[in-house]
Amino acid sequence: MNPNYRLYGQFDHSDFPHGTPRGSNLGCRTASPCPATPTCAQAESTRRKQIELNRHLGRPWPSAIVPADDVRDHLQVLFQAGWSLQEICTASGVARLTVQRIVRGFGCRWDAADALKSIAVADLRQTKEFEARHRSPRHIVSAAAARKHLRMLLKVPGASCGVIAECAGLANSVVTSIHAGNYPSIRLASDRKIRAVTREQVMEQVCRVPVTQKIVQLIRSMQVQGWGTKWQSQYYGRTYHWVRGVARGCYSTIYAADAKKIFALAERVEGTWGPDLISAGKARAQGWHPLACYNNAGQLLPGSVRERDKDAARRDREEALQQTARNHLEALRLSLEEGISAGAIGKKLGVDDTQVQRWRTGVGLHFVGIGGTGGGASTSILRRDCTTQARQVMRILAAYHSDPSMDPQEAVRELRALKASLKRQQQGKKAA
Ligand SMILES: [Zn+2]
Repeated sequence: MNPNYRLYGQFDHSDFPHGTPRGSNLGCRTASPCPATPTCAQAESTRRKQIELNRHLGRPWPSAIVPADDVRDHLQVLFQAGWSLQEICTASGVARLTVQRIVRGFGCRWDAADALKSIAVADLRQTKEFEARHRSPRHIVSAAAARKHLRMLLKVPGASCGVIAECAGLANSVVTSIHAGNYPSIRLASDRKIRAVTREQVMEQVCRVPVTQKIVQLIRSMQVQGWGTKWQSQYYGRTYHWVRGVARGCYSTIYAADAKKIFALAERVEGTWGPDLISAGKARAQGWHPLACYNNAGQLLPGSVRERDKDAARRDREEALQQTARNHLEALRLSLEEGISAGAIGKKLGVDDTQVQRWRTGVGLHFVGIGGTGGGASTSILRRDCTTQARQVMRILAAYHSDPSMDPQEAVRELRALKASLKRQQQGKKAA
């Protein structure tokens, strides 16, 4: 059984394709249930007659692809006369991609070819787009002037369409296709942008500087500080492999603009510590040091290296542990006093919610999440068998908050001891 027939079932369904050959195919064969004029049956009959006629005239099947050289010539005439791609598509009802493929030399279906060839040059003024575009930035002009300007710019040694596109703020493909002469007309905005680019701008863009030891040292020093090559590549707008290549000395020269970016970034991250510890470890293993260990000439300052490095690392680690302990205590306080869910606490403290859950179960507290629409519970309630444990946890938290000099790590250690004692009690109960 045809699944569509089952889907529509009744002919009065709002989606039933009345008035089309498909409706007849789905079972609407007589005039009485069909509300459309012409009816489904008539539409199907027309279609069959059309197929018969095509066969009689020796035309290929509708989906057959025919060569479209004559269509391409006709399109060129339309383009010359000022038609835009969009206008041709609208006027003919042929898809934009099909027209583009014909322009590039592909064939098309014969019905598309017929539709395109039926457009006359004089039809242009009747299209809505023609009137609209003369008031819009999508206004189309001849590409000749922009092409001429492009050819002049490309005479600068080292210039390419990509470089000019970067100067003009256009996509590489736009400039390339204008240079290749794919379309005789372009948007007014593109035309203005290309013609605004000067020789000096292109020369500045293609200017290259040698990769000195100083540049390599800057990249590596940032890497040691945790600003890894991948992170740097995003800042330069280059690939990871490019940054790594420069640092390894694979290039003898780089663009001056890129060198400028490297110096600017080094100035910005001086004295700060980044997130990428793996990359930092690799650079350190190769004998590189943070920026502060070098003087302006790129020479290592004697005596400044190891102590500073070690001290800073220890301080950072100690600070991180303190912060974790503070978060741990705050998460417990929020859960017990305000009844907030783990997800909400995690968002508030900037930690993962599973970490919050681990902290809570780690001191023997279990919660039941309730409410919330979509992602997780909005509040959480203490499980009934944990009330004694909660009271003891609250006591330690109160002691911590009343004494500002108390070390948060010390409080966390006390909480862990509490859990251990609870475990011992439970085991004792089981044994007895
Ligand atoms: Zn019908």
